[in-house]
Amino acid sequence: MAGTLTLRLDAPEKTRALGEAVGRLAGPGCYICLYGDLGAGKTTFVQGLAAGLGVTEAYITSPSFALVNEYAGRLTLYHIDLYRLSGPDDLADIGFSEYPGAGVAAVEWPERAGEYLPDERLDIFIEYDGEGRSIRLAAYGKSCEALLEAICRTS
Ligand code: ADP
Ligand code: MG
Repeated sequence: MAGTLTLRLDAPEKTRALGEAVGRLAGPGCYICLYGDLGAGKTTFVQGLAAGLGVTEAYITSPSFALVNEYAGRLTLYHIDLYRLSGPDDLADIGFSEYPGAGVAAVEWPERAGEYLPDERLDIFIEYDGEGRSIRLAAYGKSCEALLEAICRTS
């Protein structure tokens, strides 16, 4: 049984702050999948995540043609957006299975990678909820469960 946490975030700053908290707590090899419709707040979360990882780059946007953007920080952040993925060949082209190594991966539209996702990961589901968002986190694997417990203590 995976650990879960559900939160209501009533403004973009809250989404960013949650990402930042996760970035401060994340360890090497951390794999984060971000599920949610267009405009749900996945990239907003990654902007906070980057700040929490000590990435100094000011402007984090979703990678488009490259599918992967890499940022140096306390740990290297790999921001992967599979929205434009056309098939498994694209995954091979970007070396999808090599991420995150000793860094941290944050994947938008992870459902497009299906069976190629690792078993041990933190799933984050973001849904529209009135003006705000409701967010559910589910951890799989020991280190992600420990991460989620740490997030619970700060949220
Ligand atoms: P996605 O990457 O999921 O397509 P973005 O992060 O690019 O979404 O955009 C999400 C939009 O929703 C932004 O305008 C952002 O300010 C807003 N947003 C993010 N989190 C919240 C929240 N908790 N409440 C209200 N608006 C939010
Ligand atoms: Mg996005």
